Amino acid sequence: MTSTTANETQPNEALLRIRDLTVGFSGRNGVLPAVRGLSIEVSRGEVVGIVGESGSGKSLAMLASLGLQARNAVVGGSVVFKGQELVGRARKDLRGLRGSQISMIFQDPLSSLNPVMTVGDQIREALFLHNEGMTKQKATERVMELLRLVAIPQPDRRIGQYPHEFSGGMRQRVMIAMAIANNPELLVADEPTTALDVTVQAQIMLMLRDLKEKLGLALILITHDLGVVAGHADRVAVIYAGRVVEEADVHELFANPRHPYTRGLIASIPKLTVSEDKLYSIPGAPPMLGALPEGCAFHLRCAYAQDICRKVDPPTTSFGKHQSACHCADSLPPWREGKPSKILEGAGNG
Ligand code: SF4
Repeated sequence: MTSTTANETQPNEALLRIRDLTVGFSGRNGVLPAVRGLSIEVSRGEVVGIVGESGSGKSLAMLASLGLQARNAVVGGSVVFKGQELVGRARKDLRGLRGSQISMIFQDPLSSLNPVMTVGDQIREALFLHNEGMTKQKATERVMELLRLVAIPQPDRRIGQYPHEFSGGMRQRVMIAMAIANNPELLVADEPTTALDVTVQAQIMLMLRDLKEKLGLALILITHDLGVVAGHADRVAVIYAGRVVEEADVHELFANPRHPYTRGLIASIPKLTVSEDKLYSIPGAPPMLGALPEGCAFHLRCAYAQDICRKVDPPTTSFGKHQSACHCADSLPPWREGKPSKILEGAGNG
């Protein structure tokens, strides 16, 4: 196996650097690990996709990085944003950072917006929170500018309307307007299109990409949908059971996946050209918190599991800028896209 080497990213290029992040929840039986030593870097202007099944820890890791974890969560490791360590910072300091330099967009705009405030007042509130002394007139001008930027028609009429008067796609545009109101440098979008229908999904993703170019934002795209990252991310980190199991440039990841879990995820994307009767799915289910199997957390679902996989959690191995946490990363059979049913044949026998 290729020897483990350090990531080649230049240290001064990273806008956000997460190193060995751990998140656990304290309970009666001690601390249950939900995020296990996760490391990711994001450079200025870059789009990084974070992909994994529900419960893999992808959203939790990002929320904890920004100080939005539950009160009983125990967070360890390091999260450095523009040279400042965020882990251990006072909640008050992190509140100042969020919404100004770092913003988030959540999955369901209807539950994120306040139903009894007009969208104009909600965006103005985000402006007043981070711009002391801003006049109401200046704030209103900025709200109008933002509504135009996110392509909401008739902003002078829409500014006085309530969330229920907007469609799902338009509500997500309002959320995006609010997120970019204070010119953040990093936007974290957590499943931003999951609650929307397919055509609106495409419009929102194109708009995010367009805003990223116009405003020079870095974007973290958290999703369970590899199809979304295929079209919009520069780099992808695949998360399984609370750690990054593979990371690569998006083209490299799809052309030459070096982790059986990533291969399974790619094979699970519905394709018009596949002739098999059944849609492919990865066998089994992700492990429960506090019940991780010994060794590689994926071994009960993996067709390539060896004896070592059942005993030793694989270290991360680098192949240039492509990284994989798999004992067999350099000995997997050639990737045969289009033959998904063969990829994990025999899985579950581990
Ligand atoms: Fe499969 Fe072993 Fe690689 Fe884990 S380490 S993904 S069990 S081959």
